[in-house]
This record gives sequence, C-alpha cells and structure tokens, in this order.
Amino acid sequence: MTPPVLVFGEVHEGRVASASLEAIAVARELAGPSDPVIGFVAGSRGEAAAADFARFGVGRVLVAEDPRLDAAPVGAIAHAVTAAARSSGSSLLVAGGTTFGRELVGRLAVRWEAAVATGVTEATRVDGTLRVRRAIFGGRASETRRLEGERSAIAIRPHAFPPPVERPGALAIERVATGDLPASLMAPHRTEVKAPDRGAGPGLTDAAIVVSGGRGLRGPSEFHLVEDLAASLDAAVGASRAVTDAGWRPASFQVGQTGKAVSPQLYIAVGISGAIQHLVGMVSSRVIVAINSDAGAPIFKVADYGIVGDLFEIVPALTAEVRRARGR
Ligand SMILES: Cc1cc2nc3c(=O)[nH]c(=O)nc-3n(C[C@H](O)[C@H](O)[C@H](O)COP(=O)(O)OP(=O)(O)OC[C@H]3O[C@@H](n4cnc5c(N)ncnc54)[C@H](O)[C@@H]3O)c2cc1C
Repeated sequence: MTPPVLVFGEVHEGRVASASLEAIAVARELAGPSDPVIGFVAGSRGEAAAADFARFGVGRVLVAEDPRLDAAPVGAIAHAVTAAARSSGSSLLVAGGTTFGRELVGRLAVRWEAAVATGVTEATRVDGTLRVRRAIFGGRASETRRLEGERSAIAIRPHAFPPPVERPGALAIERVATGDLPASLMAPHRTEVKAPDRGAGPGLTDAAIVVSGGRGLRGPSEFHLVEDLAASLDAAVGASRAVTDAGWRPASFQVGQTGKAVSPQLYIAVGISGAIQHLVGMVSSRVIVAINSDAGAPIFKVADYGIVGDLFEIVPALTAEVRRARGR
C-alpha cells in the first residue's frame, strides 16, 4: 500500500470550496482503489466543512480546528498542513487551483521539502513517480515534469479535471494540534476582506462558462448585451483590457496577462480581437467561441467555433435563443 494522499480543503463560509473538491477527484485517481485519501481542513468551522469530504467518499479528515486559522496568512496554514502531512505519513498533497492553493504548495516546497508543480492539467504515476502536465508560455505549449523525491505537492488548474462523483460515507475526524503555531507566522494580520466588484453571477475564475466583451461593443451602454447573454447561461462576465482601461467595467473583470487567467468549459469572446495579452488568460478554456465582424481577427485562430458578423445582431439573437431553449 502506498502512503496516503492528502487533499487540502480550502474552506469558504464553512464549506469546502469547489476547487478543493476537484482536488479530491485527482487525489482519488493518484491514490488507486485500495490506497487511502485523507482530507485536511483548518479554522473554526473545520469540523462542519469536513462533512463535505465525507460526501465524496473521503472518510478520514484531519481538522486543525482553531479560530486563529480562519483568516491566517498562508504561511500559518502551511505550518499546520506540514504537521498533518508528517503525522499522517503522506507523501503527496493535492490542492485546488486557487491563489491560496498555489501559494500553499509553494510554501510546502520549503517547509515539507516537497517537489512542487502548479497549474497541473494531468497527473499520473509512472513506476511510482508522479508525472504532471501543465501549460507554459501562456498556454502556447505544455510540459511534462517528473516530480522526483520523497514528497510532492501539486495545485491543479481549475476545471482541468472532472469534479468528483458523490460517494457519501462515514466520517472520522482527527483533531490536529495547532498549539505550536509560531506568532511570527500569524503576521501580517488580515483585518478586513473586501470582495471585488465582480458583477452578478458566478466568480470569473470559478465559472464553468465565461462571456467576455471587448471594444467591439463600442461603449459602456452596450455592455449589457454581454451581461444578458451571460445571465441566460448562468455564466460569469469578463472583459478585455480595452474595456477595463476605458472604465466601462472595473479592472476585476479583466481577462488576460495583466488580468485574470480563466479556463472554463466554455469561453465566449464578443467583439474581442484576440491580442496575445488577452489570449494568454483564456486560451486553455475547453471550448472557445468568438463573435467578431472581422474574419481575420486573431481570436479566430484559437476559437473552436467562430461567428463572423455584427455582434449587435448576433448576441441578442443568441441570448433570446438560449432563454427560449432553457425556458426562461
Ligand atoms: C503589457 C500589456 C498587457 C496587457 N494585458 C492585457 C490583458 O490582460 N487583457 C487584455 O484583454 N488585453 C491586454 N492588453 C491589451 C491588448 O494588447 C489589446 O489592446 C486588448 O486586448 C484589445 O482589446 P479588444 O480586443 O477589446 O479591442 P480591439 O483590439 O480594439 O478589438 C475589438 C474587436 O471588436 C471587433 N468588432 C468591432 N465592431 C464589431 C461588431 N459590431 N461586431 C463584432 N465585432 C466587432 C473588431 O473587429 C475587433 O476585432 C495588454 C497590453 C499590454 C501592452
């Protein structure tokens, strides 16, 4: 039997975040049918969140139940995770593809002396060694790495793996001591968390569908066409930098090199030319649809489906058709 695979559960409002649930599916694949997968959660609502692991068949969860860890810096969580990883005898940790998850595995490289990879899109064991695949050069190429050494920690890319299948089962919670948490790791103290103005609907980096608008919309008063289409699809709304620089929508909407990187199941680019700085933020989306009046626009080079035409005709018709098909 190989050592257990540890899954880091990022807790949002007392629930394990969807990015961490994706990590469970990856851990299961890597652990094999007879090898254990163990969950880890921290914070004052750790025990409640542990139930989410049990829902997906992870029956053993290590809980660092400590209110100091609710808003703790990543370094403090990495300290607690390292203690849990050592006590459980794990040699591999899998985290979700969030900013937190990526920073956590980076810190585990030092604290736990682990080989680390982020943005992982494929993970397999070959002759006992972990092999991972990930995008490089802004998604224009991919690389395969062998993570050698006794310990590894990976953060997966959001939506790159299918979500885990529900397998409700018994839950055994094991408390992890946090008494030795050095005060230096608790600084800087987070005193307030302010969510960015991201508009209605799901968050840009978590959403399964993203509809983004560009300068082709001509002005802020027409941007609702993108938002209407997004609402009909329960999608998040994104934008090119031309839109955010012009102040049509806040910077938090921006997709690209200096904005957010997204990889949804479906990305719809409306009136966006496809400059390389935009493409690096969305090119790993599973299916890309582009709507643009210029058949030579670079966005069509990465699009799976392209509609050449006037967005002011196409987008309202598409929204109406989606609403009709979904009975809205
Ligand atoms: C250092 C640096 C970092 C950058 N970072 C980013 C970034 O993170 N994200 C980003 O997006 N950009 C970024 N940019 C800017 C980027 O280079 C482009 O300028 C920007 O992406 C262009 O936005 P756009 O496609 O909306 O506008 P445009 O390039 O002006 O394209 C508008 C498109 O709309 C189409 N169109 C016009 N009218 C219609 C119509 N009626 N129907 C259909 N289509 C129509 C046009 O054919 C055109 O293709 C960065 C640039 C630099 C230098």
